[in-house]
Amino acid sequence: MQNVCAILEAVETVDKLAMACAGAGLESAEGPAGPGTARAPHGSTAAQLRRRFGPDGVPAAVTVNGRSIPIELAVMPGGRRIPLLKTMLTTACERDCLYCPFRAGRNARRVTFRPEELARVFDGVYRRGIVDGLFLTTGMFGGGANTQNRLLDTAEILRSRMGYRGYLHLKIMPGAERGQVDRAMELADRVSVNLEAPNPERLAVLAPHKGFDEELLAPLRWIDQIRRERPPQQGWRGRWPSSTTQFVVGAAPETDVELLQTTAWLLRNLHVTRSYFMAFDPVPGTPLENRPAEDPVREHRLYQAFFLLRDYGFDLEDLSFQPDGRLPLERDPKQAYAQAALSGHPIEVNRADRTELLRVPGIGPRGADAILRARRLGTHPRDLQDLHRLGVLGERAAPYITLDGRRPRYQPRLL
Ligand code: SF4
Repeated sequence: MQNVCAILEAVETVDKLAMACAGAGLESAEGPAGPGTARAPHGSTAAQLRRRFGPDGVPAAVTVNGRSIPIELAVMPGGRRIPLLKTMLTTACERDCLYCPFRAGRNARRVTFRPEELARVFDGVYRRGIVDGLFLTTGMFGGGANTQNRLLDTAEILRSRMGYRGYLHLKIMPGAERGQVDRAMELADRVSVNLEAPNPERLAVLAPHKGFDEELLAPLRWIDQIRRERPPQQGWRGRWPSSTTQFVVGAAPETDVELLQTTAWLLRNLHVTRSYFMAFDPVPGTPLENRPAEDPVREHRLYQAFFLLRDYGFDLEDLSFQPDGRLPLERDPKQAYAQAALSGHPIEVNRADRTELLRVPGIGPRGADAILRARRLGTHPRDLQDLHRLGVLGERAAPYITLDGRRPRYQPRLL
């Protein structure tokens, strides 16, 4: 295996890539943000890196010329995991979002790649099996359309000139034009627009010079429109890319109701596959530097609520919020639902439909399908051990179910 130093050619390039990747790593896109960075030796292949990643998806890194280049474990649609290079084209920006380390005027070292340069560096890393995919974002320069052009140029060089066929996530910039969104959809596997805040009022607190409707929501509408109006064969791999967004949590100060209202609307109306939530962490030298960091548990609860909305058939009205509009931190939102709605009305596992089964803590989509399959085959579950064999967390489900009319025997967990 050739040493990665040979690919990255020059110390300055490595230095730039390390900084650009560290910047892009602040985005939560593509999977579980993991604490800490596990190290991998020079020239690690994708398979080696996969083995190094823990089961919870902690990112790894390659060390080149003494600089650590983060390689993130990305969770693909369907659950497949791939090592991904997340990088920015430039860490310079003409905008002044109040929370952002790259905002104009902040005293910080900046690095910039030309599209050809970044495409060449990435191609070298990819061809040696270090990563299987690229997440490409950038600071803004010369307006949204000009910035988008440079992202598109990089993608075009990779796809057309270098024959890159791997995973590509392209950022759509605020102010990008409709034709540019069309082209990004033809090149990428996933596209994203960061809304940052759930509505224009909250965005004004975080990024007073970003236009919620015209700069951020408009491209998300176009993405959905393109998927509905143009044949999927025109997309890369013969299908249209999925779309995602990201919210900064705890700086606006928005409520969880607002965040989840917008998330539910995006899911149902614009088919935005995934909302990412990023707990606010103040950056020195920014106007919000003295604001307290958000509790990461809040981010976790928002993700749990998001999956209930997306995969479990829950509506916003099914979730319990505190009087301040936040999800309780100390309780899983599905558990909170079950305690309120199912304690006195248990679900009969051997008669319930899929939607009802998914209401029960410990039963996920796979467990619900396994139960339905077992019932069809006449091997329906009779006790918690049977449920366990079907992939259900029986102890968690037990207080809220009956099996053939009987409450299962279980040992309640002492808190
Ligand atoms: S547009 Fe705003 S959030 Fe994006 S890099 Fe520039 S300052 Fe940061």
